[in-house]
Amino acid sequence: MKLLDSESLKSNIKIYNKALSIKNTVKVESISLRNISFIVKGDNTYHSVIYIENKGWSCDCKYYSIHGRICSHIIAVNLRLRESLLCYKNKE
Ligand SMILES: [Zn+2]
Repeated sequence: MKLLDSESLKSNIKIYNKALSIKNTVKVESISLRNISFIVKGDNTYHSVIYIENKGWSCDCKYYSIHGRICSHIIAVNLRLRESLLCYKNKE
């Protein structure tokens, strides 16, 4: 799995702030050899963020389908994963 770099995460400050506010709602939905999917709670609905090996990140929300750009849900998942990895590292 390839996480997004911090520049991509912070490229739109409004979306980044939204992601910060929802990152604690991130849950893993399913894991397979090549895919991992997450559930993220948006303003009023849940969204499905999927990482596919060799294809990268996508989301089922309107913003992503219209703009094809990284949305707050994808960023929220990435922020959450980064935190988890840092926690893990610090416990070693
Ligand atoms: Zn989204």
